[in-house]
Amino acid sequence: MKSLVWFRNDLRVDDNPALRAACSKSEEVHGIYIYSEKQLKFHNEANCKVEFIIQNLKSLERTLNKLNIPLTVISSDGFTEDAEKILNLINERSIKEIHWNNQFGTDEESRDIEVENILINNNINFFSYDAQILFPAGTFKTGEGKPYSVFTPFKKRWIDNFNIDLLDIEYNYTPKEKTKISSNINDFKFRFAKDHSVDMSLWPVGEEEALKRLDNYLDKKIFYYSKDRNEPIIDGTSRLSAYLALGIISPKRCILEALKKNNFELDSGEQGVTKWIDELVWREFYKNIMFSFPRVSKGRPFQEYTNKIKWRFDEGEFKAWKSGNTGFPLIDAAMRQLKNEGWMHNRLRMVVAMFFTKNMLHDWRLGEAFFMQNLIDGDFSSNNGGWQWSSSTGTDAAPYFRIFNPLTQSKNFDADGLFIKKYVDELKNIDKKDIHDPSNEIRSNCKYPAKILDLKESRLRAIDAFNEAKN
Ligand SMILES: Cc1cc2nc3c(=O)[nH]c(=O)nc-3n(C[C@H](O)[C@H](O)[C@H](O)COP(=O)(O)OP(=O)(O)OC[C@H]3O[C@@H](n4cnc5c(N)ncnc54)[C@H](O)[C@@H]3O)c2cc1C
Repeated sequence: MKSLVWFRNDLRVDDNPALRAACSKSEEVHGIYIYSEKQLKFHNEANCKVEFIIQNLKSLERTLNKLNIPLTVISSDGFTEDAEKILNLINERSIKEIHWNNQFGTDEESRDIEVENILINNNINFFSYDAQILFPAGTFKTGEGKPYSVFTPFKKRWIDNFNIDLLDIEYNYTPKEKTKISSNINDFKFRFAKDHSVDMSLWPVGEEEALKRLDNYLDKKIFYYSKDRNEPIIDGTSRLSAYLALGIISPKRCILEALKKNNFELDSGEQGVTKWIDELVWREFYKNIMFSFPRVSKGRPFQEYTNKIKWRFDEGEFKAWKSGNTGFPLIDAAMRQLKNEGWMHNRLRMVVAMFFTKNMLHDWRLGEAFFMQNLIDGDFSSNNGGWQWSSSTGTDAAPYFRIFNPLTQSKNFDADGLFIKKYVDELKNIDKKDIHDPSNEIRSNCKYPAKILDLKESRLRAIDAFNEAKN
């Protein structure tokens, strides 16, 4: 039998349920990937992320080639064309069934329904699998039969239901029968125009590199995660997010290998390991939120009352924030890290997002979009969850009156100013006692900008805006 695997957000061979099912059922297996520049733009995918997708597709093609599985890349104008494109390929090659792994998001879900309908009408069998999270989305419900909207009880249910059999992911692939079809990736016109300044050497391409990164991280750093994860100058987190976001590595592989370092204990033993797994559960939590509350993927807040907030907009402040010139050194260092690396440390994502939505009182949707347009690890559900948490519009959100002070955050988490010095060149020779909030004289000597706003006033303005929306 001939099967087709439709690769989407799962650019890997390891722990890929769709690929595994096709390989175990069929003698001949083909792969397809639908590339749409227009769709990627529409979803605000970062230019660096698109480059990463293309390079990882090339790497996937080489791996699949060893298994005699050709990968065909097809261009499309957007999701609405996918159903026809798939059916055409199935008919051309007399394929009997198609397998894919589920994606999250309302556009993706509507696209899949169109694909399923066309396949049903043409008597083609299709099979879909969950590869992005451990438990199918929507599995857990509260005592009242509602989806969880608070992380801690969700995590408890997740842990209570965890069973090591869920991590039964080992599979020995053997080469399939050779086909007459060859992969087209080397001739495919991606028409990619690079317009980012991210140092791509930080993001080595391919599944093997992702697995190596996991291995290196689990070797030592994970044991210090609880302590090191909050200081941006320390390389204390895994930096696996870009690989998880594109499915170059699977969450099950990450959890399985981490558990091996902790006698398979999920909520006891090594604190670093359990804390790290917690973060992977946050990832699953936000995917569940997107699944159970589709409004959040349509630009709407989780907390409906926050629709009434009167957000400000100031072009100059927006530009200063985006370019890392707000006059708040930690914020500027973080925004420059984003430009240089396509990635930002988690603590700083919270600090800059809170500054944007509270002190600047700008609409969280603008910040959310800017992050997606610049992050190599852009993941709609985690990004949306992070922005809505920081702006107090989301589930489990920070109470609106608890607003991070960026100067205190700077002193607490970058005490010696080393992170600031690394990214804000103008301040690289400034003493640690001055670096968090340089005097006017230092700013003028270093050509470092004045602060765009007053922290105290802007904090009160934000609280007023939330109070007004609430009443
Ligand atoms: C405003 C804001 C926007 C964010 N946008 C994204 C995004 O677009 N893509 C993204 O993957 N993460 C996002 N996050 C979550 C988090 O910042 C990143 O996952 C993390 O910094 C990635 O670095 P790491 O791989 O070294 O993480 P580690 O600390 O090593 O954590 C391991 C993995 O757990 C997951 N994870 C960690 N923290 C979180 C979290 N708070 N929420 C959900 N998953 C988490 C990630 O997949 C990560 O790779 C955002 C957070 C905030 C506050």
